[in-house]
Amino acid sequence: MNSAAAAAANNNMDCCRTCLTVRSLRLSAEAIWHIDDSMLQDIKRYYKIQINERDKKTTWMCEKCIQNVILWRERLKMALKNQLVIDWLAEKAASQCKNKPQP
Ligand SMILES: [Zn+2]
Repeated sequence: MNSAAAAAANNNMDCCRTCLTVRSLRLSAEAIWHIDDSMLQDIKRYYKIQINERDKKTTWMCEKCIQNVILWRERLKMALKNQLVIDWLAEKAASQCKNKPQP
């Protein structure tokens, strides 16, 4: 058992749901929902775990694990935005091909 798991075993309802930390700032599922009601949904998409306030397991998440989801959201948004550039480049390449005089 590593130190995070040992600490979690001692405070089983008080550790982060995904990394087992008991030391850093943590938010309950209820607090997360009040701050950002789509965050619990995104935690499920990112970590593949469902946090339910009625769980008999810990419903806490640490700041770092929540931050991972926020960064992931930003990367998704950036990738989607960059597709506009990719589409424009593809169109430009296609039109240059079309306009090229035949030898
Ligand atoms: Zn964590």
